[in-house]
Amino acid sequence: MRVECGTRTSVRKLIALIVALLVCVAFESVAQETPPDGLTLRQGDVKIVKIGDAVNASIVQGIIDTGGAPSTIPMFTKGDTLYGIVAVDLYQEPGTYHMTVYEAATKRALSTKTLIVKQGEFEKSVSPRWNTQVFGQTDLDRIAREKKAITEALRTSSPLPRWQDGTIDPIEKTDHTGLMTTPFGQIRMNPAQDWYRFHRGTDFQAPEGFAIRAIAAGKVAHLGRDYLLEGNITVIDHGLGIFSSYLHQSTFLVKVGDEVKKGDVIGRVGSTGNSHAPHLHLALRIGAALVDPTQFIEALRQP
Ligand SMILES: [Zn+2]
Repeated sequence: MRVECGTRTSVRKLIALIVALLVCVAFESVAQETPPDGLTLRQGDVKIVKIGDAVNASIVQGIIDTGGAPSTIPMFTKGDTLYGIVAVDLYQEPGTYHMTVYEAATKRALSTKTLIVKQGEFEKSVSPRWNTQVFGQTDLDRIAREKKAITEALRTSSPLPRWQDGTIDPIEKTDHTGLMTTPFGQIRMNPAQDWYRFHRGTDFQAPEGFAIRAIAAGKVAHLGRDYLLEGNITVIDHGLGIFSSYLHQSTFLVKVGDEVKKGDVIGRVGSTGNSHAPHLHLALRIGAALVDPTQFIEALRQP
């Protein structure tokens, strides 16, 4: 009897433990879930969200509050519906943030949603060839000057969304071109060092001289000639703070101020700057956020 009783007690204890564990698991999964009015994104993600029907873009504004300076949500109309482009910076600290849409004139909040940012799931590349370049002071000064010139160009953007006739891949897909060779965010680690860096754009396969196309309509905002890291770089303003950059070019085919249409050839593939072989490195900025360019292209491919 005693033994039986003891067994029963053990079983009860075990059941209690299992129940406690299940409750813990349930709470955990509830805590991890996005609230019904919220959004969960990873670092570098781009997501189109519906703001509302029959809402005029000129009377509302949207911001994402991530702790620092709030970033504006670019908005555009499709049919009768207003959409916003929510962009999460590659370096955004994971956590829970808020997005607010408010009336532009009165600053009255119309709706607030939760934005949960998770760590990006980036491919890791461990190779002794990463981060081996050692720059002297002259090089560092030059990099700082060139970075400043690019940053300067990103300060002014068209107040109109210029991408509304859709997007296109920057390199035409054929049997030997257009393939993504290195994804956005790849973590580059050198086994001999205790630090790493992220790949700040997407690489596309293409031979020297291959045509580079504007991913969307816009206006040429900057040309950088033979920059130490970027090589020959073209920056295009697509409006509302959205900019695409095309790095390592061999040839420029546009000049600052030129209006380009989606698919216009803006330059030719090369291996200038910090590059090992001819390819296109495409980078995309949405406001202050450095994001995955392929997500932007996919989300807005259809006009
Ligand atoms: Zn690259």
